[in-house]
Amino acid sequence: MKILVINCGSSSLKYQLIDMENEHVIAKGLCERIGIAGGHIEGKTFDGRQFSEEIDLPDHTVAFGRVKDALLEGECKVIDSLDEIAAIGHRVVQGGAVFDHSVVVTPEVIREIDNLSALAPLHNPAHIQGINACTEVFGEEKPQVVVFDNAFHSTMPKYAYSFAIPQDLAEKHQIRKYGAHGTSHKYLVERYAEIKGIPLEGTKIITCHLGNGSSVSAVKDGKCIDTSMGLTPLDGLVMGTRSGSIDASAVTFLQEREGWTPKETSEFLNKKCGLLGVSGSSSDMRDNMTAREEGDKNAELATDMLFYQIRKYIGSYVAAMNGVDAILFSGGIGENSVHTRDAVVRELGWLNIRLDEEANDVRGKEIRISTDDSAVEVWVIPTNEELAIARDTKRLVEEQ
Ligand code: AMP
Repeated sequence: MKILVINCGSSSLKYQLIDMENEHVIAKGLCERIGIAGGHIEGKTFDGRQFSEEIDLPDHTVAFGRVKDALLEGECKVIDSLDEIAAIGHRVVQGGAVFDHSVVVTPEVIREIDNLSALAPLHNPAHIQGINACTEVFGEEKPQVVVFDNAFHSTMPKYAYSFAIPQDLAEKHQIRKYGAHGTSHKYLVERYAEIKGIPLEGTKIITCHLGNGSSVSAVKDGKCIDTSMGLTPLDGLVMGTRSGSIDASAVTFLQEREGWTPKETSEFLNKKCGLLGVSGSSSDMRDNMTAREEGDKNAELATDMLFYQIRKYIGSYVAAMNGVDAILFSGGIGENSVHTRDAVVRELGWLNIRLDEEANDVRGKEIRISTDDSAVEVWVIPTNEELAIARDTKRLVEEQ
């Protein structure tokens, strides 16, 4: 069975065709600048064939049409017929409190995703465009499944996901913590249990998905009980360009003093803060680490803030779960930054965690980086959100 996994944004789409017999990627690629002049598509196959093309992509239907052609014909052909694709799985950012698990797409599901657009104005409308374009290009009979980025966090208790504001207002506007990166956090704990050959029941795991966007989750018995992202992916840790948690008074103060509209304020907090804002030079962790090594004090502050905040979240989640068995690092920073993992774990000696420095000298590889006598296991586990989406899609299609 082959599953096509789609991650669709307002002007971009990424795809992967996965063979579920062995869970290998057969082909993958991306379309950029959809609906904007200067469109681009590129892709590659499992056996090293590649293509790249500058082509106008006026809308998502044209982009999906081009993806279909790339899979079916030309130098990068990987299938003989669309019948080989059993189903399509879409990543959807916001399922609100409506969807606590993945579902097969129906007109009602599309309506509900649309109703939740206020909570993800950049993402949910783009996902609907992607689903509709897929229906046009791949046909109505091709099953489509939506996998929600926040569904894994739906198990948080009310006292963890509520904000301390009048509850009638919270309910009226659906304001609460929803979290994000759920597909990744879920993949990480399930992969850990798989590696260890243990059930998730009885485990206490802290997952650190650290990339351009970052979040930490507390997962008890395989269920998320808290996570660092909030109503939107702005909350929690310092990120590439996002501020992370900030006293709301600082925000209203800035609005008053700078005369910003809510839209300008949101743009500021999402695009101009985080590592970029503090360092004044780059949102990229590698750039910041290089600048830090060259003595740049602003980059040092930005990265120290990140290390400190990751540690604080870990400490608070140990308290929230009354213990921890394993800490898992993933995402571009978590998988590749030896320094970040070292800076975070080194100060957690009070938990009797011991880092294996040699093992920690690793990039993008699944490996345990704690010593045998460490009281808590620490692992690097490269995330695989596409595979998690493909697995859910396969399961739902087989259940139909
Ligand atoms: P992601 O959003 O998961 O793709 O992660 C992107 C982030 O990972 C960027 O900030 C990169 O600079 C960071 N990253 C990738 N490789 C490294 C590395 N070797 N050391 C530090 N950060 C890295």
